[in-house]
Amino acid sequence: MKREQRYGIKSLAKDFPNDDVCLDFLFDAQHTRQCSCGGSYKRIAGRKQYQCSKCRFQIAPTAGTIFHKSDTPLTVWFAAILSFSSSKSGKSAKELERELEVTYKTAWRMLHLIRKALGQNNGKLKGIVEMDTGYLGGISNRTKGVMKNKTVVMAAKERGGNIRAQVVADSTAQAHREFLAEYVEPASFLMTDQTNRLEKAAKGYERHTVNHSKGEHVRGAVHVNNIEAFFAHVKRSVKGTHKIISRESQNSSTVHYSHQTQKEHVQ
Ligand SMILES: [Zn+2]
Repeated sequence: MKREQRYGIKSLAKDFPNDDVCLDFLFDAQHTRQCSCGGSYKRIAGRKQYQCSKCRFQIAPTAGTIFHKSDTPLTVWFAAILSFSSSKSGKSAKELERELEVTYKTAWRMLHLIRKALGQNNGKLKGIVEMDTGYLGGISNRTKGVMKNKTVVMAAKERGGNIRAQVVADSTAQAHREFLAEYVEPASFLMTDQTNRLEKAAKGYERHTVNHSKGEHVRGAVHVNNIEAFFAHVKRSVKGTHKIISRESQNSSTVHYSHQTQKEHVQ
């Protein structure tokens, strides 16, 4: 008897040489070929559908799956799933783009849907995540001594999702790295300004930056408008109530701040 071997890309290509085979597999994984009317299902030539020979009922095996309405071949999808599940440390869209020779957009979309289908949700933010660091409290005077007295807050917001915010000791690269590891799913899109403290800290994320110092605030989907709105809101409410923020009173680890408003800039 043949010894069991690791199921790799070669086995996949052998088992699923083309989209017809993949589609048959999807059908058989969800349905039986025998219809309850006594007829049997057969593929409709040239379409991604199966029809009962007797009652003419039609079934599209991709309906309700992550493959639905995708122009990407099923063979590529299957390869993406294999690659994703055999990777120990998570897959990035960049890696998948190279491996499967698809566009970055396609790779990202597939990854997003595979993760979603597998219900990989450990409470971390994912997808497109904006991150920024704010300095609260103290006196609004930008001399170095006063900045030292300010409380450093790091916050990240998933577009269309929640915010995680935390008071941190300082805004070093190390603090950035720890914040990301705790709250943001690796390989997520990370939208930030151009702080060099994130250069190494954001390794493993797909970081995109806007250059505020050059007056750049939005470049397509790249912006940090939502997280800046969050900080503006926090700063306004601090000012409005004349509260002096003490580091201690804020140190209740995480603020699960739900900030899903219609004003959100989703794209
Ligand atoms: Zn039937």
